[in-house]
Amino acid sequence: MKRDIRLAVLLLSIIGLTVAAATAWELWAARERTLAKAYTHNLNLAQALDTYVEGIITQSSMLLLGVAERLEADGTGPEQLQRLRLLAQHQQSLLSQLDSIVVYDAHGHWLMTSNGQVPPDATSADRSFFIHHRDNPSTDAYIGEPIRSRSTGKWVITISRRYNQPDGSFAGVISVTLGVENFLQLFGKIDIGRHGAIGVTTVNGQVLVRYPFRQGDMGRVLSHSPIFSGYLDHAQVGTASFNSSLDGIERIYAFRKNERYPLVTTVALGKDEALASWRADALRTVGIAFGLLLVIVIIGCLMILAIKRRIGTETLLVAAREELLKANRQLEVLASRDPLTGLQNRRSFDDRLSSELRRAQRERTPLALLLIDVDYFKRFNDTYGHPAGDDCLRSVGQLLADNVRRPGDLTARYGGEELAVILPNTDSAGAQSVAEQILQHLWQSNLTHVGSPFGRVTASIGIAALPAGSEASAAALISAADQALYRAKAAGRNRLDCAPGVPGSEQ
Ligand code: GH3
Ligand code: MG
Ligand code: MG
Repeated sequence: MKRDIRLAVLLLSIIGLTVAAATAWELWAARERTLAKAYTHNLNLAQALDTYVEGIITQSSMLLLGVAERLEADGTGPEQLQRLRLLAQHQQSLLSQLDSIVVYDAHGHWLMTSNGQVPPDATSADRSFFIHHRDNPSTDAYIGEPIRSRSTGKWVITISRRYNQPDGSFAGVISVTLGVENFLQLFGKIDIGRHGAIGVTTVNGQVLVRYPFRQGDMGRVLSHSPIFSGYLDHAQVGTASFNSSLDGIERIYAFRKNERYPLVTTVALGKDEALASWRADALRTVGIAFGLLLVIVIIGCLMILAIKRRIGTETLLVAAREELLKANRQLEVLASRDPLTGLQNRRSFDDRLSSELRRAQRERTPLALLLIDVDYFKRFNDTYGHPAGDDCLRSVGQLLADNVRRPGDLTARYGGEELAVILPNTDSAGAQSVAEQILQHLWQSNLTHVGSPFGRVTASIGIAALPAGSEASAAALISAADQALYRAKAAGRNRLDCAPGVPGSEQ
């Protein structure tokens, strides 16, 4: 029963733990799936934007190459510059991101701009891209840091190239400026959530464009960001998750390093935002799992209560059964006892005699019966009164019980003042010795009986014994003992007589 409760608790615990573990596992797996999806989405976007940026830079580089070749071939006379401005204006109308095309001489003075007349005394000798080309013979395109245009005040990215004199010496610089605003317009159309960010930086981490736009971010160097201080050393493309060094918000990043230009495109989503839909699902799942666990706990408690109640009922039943058995045993004892002497009664004697007889026949063992009758008992009653007669009978019964002590023996009140003893597995000689001992002890008890010629209470005993293997009946055995008793009485009392045989016991 206690085991049932333990088993129920174990079963419920296993079910509960399984539900909890399965839920936790599912939540974790769903979170991983959501993050993986966000990473893939970011990566695809970074790839697409990288291609877009590369296209614009390539177009700008081709434009620079064309202009440089013209300048180197035709020189920088006013006519040539005028023709060049028309060409530049045409190109500018084709490439919407293009803000301006400017030609500088070897000292940084503006020779031509696609946006109208050259402002007087305009110079860019101090700009880093100009210094780079002046001091560097390479004719490769140079992507400069974002600057504020001196003509418009807007943020621009400069892509520039050097052009040479026929002898190869430095003749000046041509630059195209790309409006940061144009990039921001495109990036702004992409849904990257409230905490998302798109950025184009140099490989060293210098911000060229960042959406959402913040004045302070322009030109800032993010060399401490994990992407630039670690990831890019090992991979051209990849994903990462960390707290932004610009605003401290945790984001999941995808970065793509351009294959032709030293540029990196980064797409980031706020991690909290990316996980928002998962969180809503997770809350629902946890709610359902919690409800399920609650139901399991309630059912479990009811189950344990039911088992406990059953245990209680069964304990009561067991106790009631015990009581009943006890009462039955007492009844049996009462039913088999003679109330006066405490010996077995006649019914019990009859039952036992027939069962012992069967056993003797089955096991081929001898069986003896003694019939004991108190001598002159009528006179005892007459002399001392009936209650004293009862006491005398009790004493004789106790004496018999004390003398017949083997476990299988039975002492009973046969009727009136007549008592009987069944002696299983006892032959005639054994029975006689028991009878003699009884007579002797009764004599020694010296219970006064003035009405008797012996002066004390005596008894006569009739013995009948069945030898081993006898087939005689109980009635024959009793009758033989009774006749022996009669003979003992007739012979003077206070003696025993042994039946010479029992009819039916011949073998
Ligand atoms: P005998 O020596 O021939 O046996 O003589 P007796 O007087 O014993 O004769 P009998 O056996 O005929 O007498 C039996 C008497 O035992 C009759 C009855 O009064 C008495 N008796 C029988 N049962 C009880 C009993 O339960 N209590 C008492 N006090 N007396 C009983
Ligand atoms: Mg009698
Ligand atoms: Mg008698």
